[in-house]
Amino acid sequence: MADSYDAVVIGAGPNGLAAAITLAQAGRSVVVLEANETIGGGARSAETTEPGFVHDLASAIHPLGMGSPFFSGLPLHEHGLEWIVPVASVAHPLNNGEAAIAWHDLHQTAVELGEDAAAYRKTFDRLIENWDDVTDFTMTRLTRFPRHPMLMLRLGLAGAAPATRFAKSRFATEAARALFAGHVAHSLLPLSYPFTSTFGLVLGASAHTVGWGFPKGGAQSLTNALAAYLESIGGEIRTGTRVQNLSDLPDHRAAIFSTTPAQVGEIARERLPQHSRLWMRRFKYGPAAFKIDFALSEPIPWANPNVAHAATVHVGGTLKEIATSEKQMSSGVPPTKPFVLLAQHSLFDDTRAPQGKHTAWAYCHVPNASRFDMTQRIQHQIERFAPGFRDTIIAKRTWSPAELEASNANLIGGNVGGGSNRGSRVFLRPGIKIIPYRTGNPTIFIGSASTSPGAGVHGMSGHHAAREALATALR
Ligand SMILES: Cc1cc2nc3c(=O)[nH]c(=O)nc-3n(C[C@H](O)[C@H](O)[C@H](O)COP(=O)(O)OP(=O)(O)OC[C@H]3O[C@@H](n4cnc5c(N)ncnc54)[C@H](O)[C@@H]3O)c2cc1C
Repeated sequence: MADSYDAVVIGAGPNGLAAAITLAQAGRSVVVLEANETIGGGARSAETTEPGFVHDLASAIHPLGMGSPFFSGLPLHEHGLEWIVPVASVAHPLNNGEAAIAWHDLHQTAVELGEDAAAYRKTFDRLIENWDDVTDFTMTRLTRFPRHPMLMLRLGLAGAAPATRFAKSRFATEAARALFAGHVAHSLLPLSYPFTSTFGLVLGASAHTVGWGFPKGGAQSLTNALAAYLESIGGEIRTGTRVQNLSDLPDHRAAIFSTTPAQVGEIARERLPQHSRLWMRRFKYGPAAFKIDFALSEPIPWANPNVAHAATVHVGGTLKEIATSEKQMSSGVPPTKPFVLLAQHSLFDDTRAPQGKHTAWAYCHVPNASRFDMTQRIQHQIERFAPGFRDTIIAKRTWSPAELEASNANLIGGNVGGGSNRGSRVFLRPGIKIIPYRTGNPTIFIGSASTSPGAGVHGMSGHHAAREALATALR
């Protein structure tokens, strides 16, 4: 490592790597310091159960990565990245062997929803038609004036409704309501909260535009491609380097933290104004994940065979059941019948398991830092829609919120979303600020899932933070 750089990036997750690439592309010298021995943060994969079974440690499905305006402009395929996009984006099994499927094809999805075909089309048609503008707006820092204000106003007005109300008033069938509710539950908010419909609208539309795909070989392949490209343009990465104090950093003109505000407040405390330290300390974290990696002897035996056409399965039953699960979680109670997010990559990617064998990635939302073991409840929910599932389990590895935090210091209390989504933080992250990436010290920036546009593997927060540094400290 050299003694001096234009910029130091703390953390080699998707946002840290995106920040470093943005800086290196602009001709600045940059080094990324990563606490773990492996790079990727929330985009890592490893054999956590049995040899030959490759599991994603956090993120598993990447519509945001595939649709990221920043990642899309990088030559990642030249560095080994290959997206796999199943014909169905999301499957949502229901009772009695029924299932709602969000096929990549809008028409097929609508037709299968029968009575709700026209309502489904009406809900998503315009968003799909204007998908580039929707992406442009949602992937920016959201404090910028939108390029198409009328479209965004319409999205804002429709999305302002609580999801339960929207789903009941828009759709007549249990299938369409449940499908919508499954998308909304990614918000980590109770479905009765204002603006939760926005998640159902945007994620629902993404199912029919970019599709819900993932990198061949696991989330690690995306990370490895980002790192290889960064190194090809002169950036450096150093692993096994936990930054605890600014004095741990080599000489630099700008430091970009792809960590949470609490970590920035701790590490940079001597160089931050008091008001910054205060908001960083008070920054609120949100719900956690309880996760299980499964090694399976065969594919999951779904009662409805169409469920095998999607890599992503929303396992939670009806709108009412999903709303109850997320409400319990939000009131500090481990859900009795949890909404389970499940990915079955090995049906589409034969690099993920030994021949004939399979993997499953499953997690549910629990209160922050919960110690409750959700293993039986998660397995019970899967078994409900796939009788015989338990008999297919060869091995499993569970991850409590505390274990998730031990594997990645950004996951405070096991927090999935880089901070709470409540109140204005659903859109304005880390808080109500014109430039979300500034910290109060003109040489220190923050660009992580805690800043706009928020959680997910898209790299946009890191990219925006780096651009802010280039426009100011590194001008
Ligand atoms: C269980 C789970 C499932 C998820 N599923 C999905 C999904 O399917 N799709 C999706 O798009 N998103 C998903 N996410 C969210 C996604 O993983 C994150 O939003 C994303 O990884 C955030 O990127 P980041 O770069 O901001 O932070 P991270 O990816 O968390 O990376 C932060 C990095 O900083 C390092 N670090 C922290 N502190 C220090 C320090 N002091 N010194 C040096 N290094 C440090 C960490 O070790 C880590 O490598 C999931 C998250 C979880 C927890």
